[in-house]
Amino acid sequence: MTNKITNSFKVTPLGGLSQIGSNMVLFQGPNTNIIIDCGILFPIDSNLGINYLIPDLDYLNNTEIEALVITHGHEDHIGAIIHFVSKFPHVPIYASNFTAALIRKKFNENKISKKINIYNESSSLIFNELKIDPVSVNHSIPETFGIFLTNTISNEGIFYCSDFKIDDFSIYESPFNFEKLKSLRKGLSSFTLMPDSTNIISSTLETPSETMLIDNFKEIFSRDYKRVFLTTFSSNIWRVKSILQSAYDCGLKVVPYGRSFQSYIQIAIETEIITTEEAKTLQQPDQVKDYQKKQVVLLSGCQGDFRSALRRVGYGEDKRYKPDEGDVFVFSSKAIPGNEKNISILMNQISEFGSEIITPADLLIHVSGHPGRDDLKRLYSECNPDLIIPIHGESFFLKRHVEFAKDLGYKSDWLTNYQSISLYNKDYKISELDEEFLHSNIHGKGKKLPKESLKERRKIAEKGLIIVSQFKKDFSISTAGIPEHYEENGETLLTVDALRKRYSFISEKVFEIIKVELRREIVNLFGYKPEVIFHTYKKASQKEA
Ligand SMILES: [Zn+2]
Repeated sequence: MTNKITNSFKVTPLGGLSQIGSNMVLFQGPNTNIIIDCGILFPIDSNLGINYLIPDLDYLNNTEIEALVITHGHEDHIGAIIHFVSKFPHVPIYASNFTAALIRKKFNENKISKKINIYNESSSLIFNELKIDPVSVNHSIPETFGIFLTNTISNEGIFYCSDFKIDDFSIYESPFNFEKLKSLRKGLSSFTLMPDSTNIISSTLETPSETMLIDNFKEIFSRDYKRVFLTTFSSNIWRVKSILQSAYDCGLKVVPYGRSFQSYIQIAIETEIITTEEAKTLQQPDQVKDYQKKQVVLLSGCQGDFRSALRRVGYGEDKRYKPDEGDVFVFSSKAIPGNEKNISILMNQISEFGSEIITPADLLIHVSGHPGRDDLKRLYSECNPDLIIPIHGESFFLKRHVEFAKDLGYKSDWLTNYQSISLYNKDYKISELDEEFLHSNIHGKGKKLPKESLKERRKIAEKGLIIVSQFKKDFSISTAGIPEHYEENGETLLTVDALRKRYSFISEKVFEIIKVELRREIVNLFGYKPEVIFHTYKKASQKEA
């Protein structure tokens, strides 16, 4: 490696590339290592019993980390922090005020006491040769920042702009600070942009402003519905503010229903993002005198999540609110890919109660928090990057983003998690993929589940389990997910009695034969192999004797 490379930047994503979630990137200058974001990935159906997945933190075992800097408070950016802190307790954390309040809640729940350093847009954080400047961007959660990193030795810069949109008309947050971005970029010998790829294949070229929804909420609230049940992403405080304003204008109260809304709204009030005046429109569920009266009920769980308020109410299983003719359910959200079926089953249930449903296909009641292609084009032209490395997207999205950038005349390339890119003098080199590292499955009370155990779980779930135990001269069979007494052609299979007919005496040797025969018979019987566990109490019985 030449001096030029070592003096420059090396960037390694540990999450968030070739997937949407678990965002985490390691930025390395010649002497300094900084991590940006530390999020979780939500599990898919085949991750049986897994709460979430986190980046492989072992990748950082031999790395001295100077700081963890958080861009914003979405779970895919902060969800893995408790795991990071228990592994690296001394690394200082930097976040905005609202984001810090969300992280602190996690710390309290996990009995972690750790200080969070607060930054705001005027902060400039210096870590040896690396300078970090937060740049205000727009997004679907308050206080979201793009992070500008400057290597003061090589005079090079990177703008890590993970989640953002451009909202020139927001009445809640300041616009994307292009002026600051331009002034940070000015005079650098080389500049790399790492932008959001979430909406690269979307047909909406320019993401509409959050402000455009307010009139439509007012219009819905003033219609002659009995009650308005409304769901959206609980962390979208801008949306909550629009709903509060619209409900206030229509003389309605807003009842936050579900733990997630309760929690985000409480933090937004504490951090004064929801004003005391706005909070007056809120009513706690136990303060509602008449649950049948017209009101706006904010339901958590817009993805049809199991045990959520939306699901409970939609299925008619809630003790306070049952869907009725004349009610309306407003889905101010879109389905995250993979959740479509859950949501459509729920919508069918709601329809069967005679309630009406309004979705973004009927009226503009949801806007994305991510940029369309024209927004990206605008970002490129505002900062004129020498290189574009797309982030926040699955491989197909990253590849499309590279093609899009190249078509516009920019140099661009993509990498995946655990692959490094070294930047030097407007050029770059991407390393081979380090296949040793994989995301960790987190289950139960935050423990890691090894990959092999997850494999077993999948096999047991799909094919069932048979346990054969030998104790002295006797043995027993238990099954799970398979009937214990299986009959075919009048013969009982899979039971102790059936096997006993064949073997009157069970010795160690006979047990070995049973193992082979049983496996073969199961394959003949089902056409597939369930998980079979053979267990012998040999040692225990010897001790007892
Ligand atoms: Zn986000």
